[in-house]
Amino acid sequence: MQKSQRVQAQKQLLDWYEIHGRKDLPWRDASDVYHVYVSEVMLQQTQVKRVLEEYYFQFLEKFPSFLALAQAPLEEVFGMWSGLGYYRRAKNLHESAKLCVDAFPRDLKSLQKLPGIGRYTASAICSFGYHQSVSVVDTNIARVLARFFGEEDAKEAHLWELADEFLNSSNPTSHNLALMDLGAMVCLPKNPACEKCPFVASCQGSSEPDKYYKTQKKNYENKKLHFGICERNGKIAMNRSGEGMYKDMLELPNIASTCQEENLLGTFPHAVTKYRLEVNIYKVDFIAEDVLWIALDSLHGAGISSMTKKALKLYNSVKPKLCSRN
Ligand code: SF4
Repeated sequence: MQKSQRVQAQKQLLDWYEIHGRKDLPWRDASDVYHVYVSEVMLQQTQVKRVLEEYYFQFLEKFPSFLALAQAPLEEVFGMWSGLGYYRRAKNLHESAKLCVDAFPRDLKSLQKLPGIGRYTASAICSFGYHQSVSVVDTNIARVLARFFGEEDAKEAHLWELADEFLNSSNPTSHNLALMDLGAMVCLPKNPACEKCPFVASCQGSSEPDKYYKTQKKNYENKKLHFGICERNGKIAMNRSGEGMYKDMLELPNIASTCQEENLLGTFPHAVTKYRLEVNIYKVDFIAEDVLWIALDSLHGAGISSMTKKALKLYNSVKPKLCSRN
C-alpha cells in the first residue's frame, strides 16, 4: 500500500471512530492502567455488555488497586468473578497483582512474562493503558485487516505485520480502538455492512468478504456430569477443585461412580468452552470422602461457578418437596 493511500485510510478510520466509536466504554478513558488490565482480562472471553453491566465496576469497587487485589484472598476474587466463567483468568489476575504490587510492567516483553498475558493482552495494555505506539490484533482487528488488505488465509504473524504497517503512529490508541470497533460493529464475520464502512472504496475484500475470513466451525463435545448434594444442619458438602478450569474453586462432590437413579433431583444443560454438558444432580445422604462443610446461605457471592449456582438453584427449588416427603 502506498503511503498516501495508507494516510488516507488512517484518516477515514479516525473520522469514522469519532462519530461511531464506542468511546463511552469506561475503560477507554481510564487513567489507571490497572483498570485497563482488569477490563482486558474480563473481555478476553466475555461480551462487553455483560462485563459492563455485571462485573467491571463491582470488581473495581471491591479491589480498587493492584495492592487491594494482591492482598485479597483468592476465594474473595473468585467470589467477584462468580458466573463470569474461565476462572483461570481471575487466578492469573490475582497472581499478577501479587507479583506487581510495586510496579506494573510498561513494556510488551515484561508484560508477557506475567501469568495469562499473551501478545494481544500485552499490546492492548501498552496501547490503551500507556498510549504507546504499538499495534494490537484481536479477532475483530484480524478480520478487518485480512479483508482490507485482501489476505486470504493469512497467518497470525503476518496479520501482526500488517497491523504494524498500518498503525497510525500519530494517534495509535484511537487507531487500534477504531479498528476494533469496526470489526465488532461493521466488518462482522458474516454479512459485513460494507456500505457503512469507511474503507469501502479501497477495501480489497469488500466484493468477497467471506473469501478473506472464514468462520471456523466449532466442534462441541457432549459430556454427562453427576454431582451429589448432601446437606447437614444448613451446610452442604463441597470439594475444592484440584484441576481443570475450576481449579481451586468450590464444587459439589462428583458422584459419577456411585449415583443412583432414584435419588436424581433434576438435570439441566450447561455450556462451557467446547463442552455441552448434561448436569445431573442427586440427593445424597452420606458422603464418605473428606469434604468441606459450607453453610448454604454463605454460598451466595462465594467463588463458585455458574454451573454450581444452577445446581444449587435446582436444589433449592425441589427442597420444599423433599422436606414434605420426610
Ligand atoms: S469494506 Fe467491508 S469487508 Fe472491507 S473492511 Fe469494510 S466492512 Fe470489512
